[in-house]
Amino acid sequence: MFLNINSIRECTESEGIGKRFAIWTQGCMKRCQNCCNTHMQPIIKKHIVNCDDIIKQIQYSKTNYNIEGITLLGGEPILQSKGLSYIAKWCRENDLSVILFSGYTLEEINTSNFDGALELLKYTDVLIDGEYVDDLYDEERGFIGSSNQKICFFTDVYTQKDFDNYKGYVSIEFIIDNNKLQING
Ligand code: SF4
Repeated sequence: MFLNINSIRECTESEGIGKRFAIWTQGCMKRCQNCCNTHMQPIIKKHIVNCDDIIKQIQYSKTNYNIEGITLLGGEPILQSKGLSYIAKWCRENDLSVILFSGYTLEEINTSNFDGALELLKYTDVLIDGEYVDDLYDEERGFIGSSNQKICFFTDVYTQKDFDNYKGYVSIEFIIDNNKLQING
């Protein structure tokens, strides 16, 4: 099974609770005003990666960085639910949490025909749902963009209190990768 990804970060503290492995998928059909990842919108082949190879990288991050989970964002992860659910299932079986950011609401996902979307939700601990609405930008929400986006808890791994601890949290990471400066946050 393969994923079309834009990028991966082996350990970040900018994309959810604690230290996390982050996967940015390539391709999104939404066009939110002032989307901060417009380069991830085009549905084009970017990096085609075998899911088992990503799992090996997650395992490496668990051992070497002590990550507590993974974060799926993009782009639109739901468009690649099948491959991501395979990875999320492995995480569930290996005591790693899964946080999923989607431009679709929970209701839209539940009533959509996106292949594997319900399976992905099954192995997700927290979904942050809905489009980013620039007029509703709320800096108090930390790594969550706008006030319309709901935090949906599917397990008790995290609670609202965990997210409240990140109110007003601003984190920008500078990473040099292959002689290129990457900014994350
Ligand atoms: S859903 Fe996310 S990636 Fe897609 S356009 Fe909106 S902000 Fe950008």
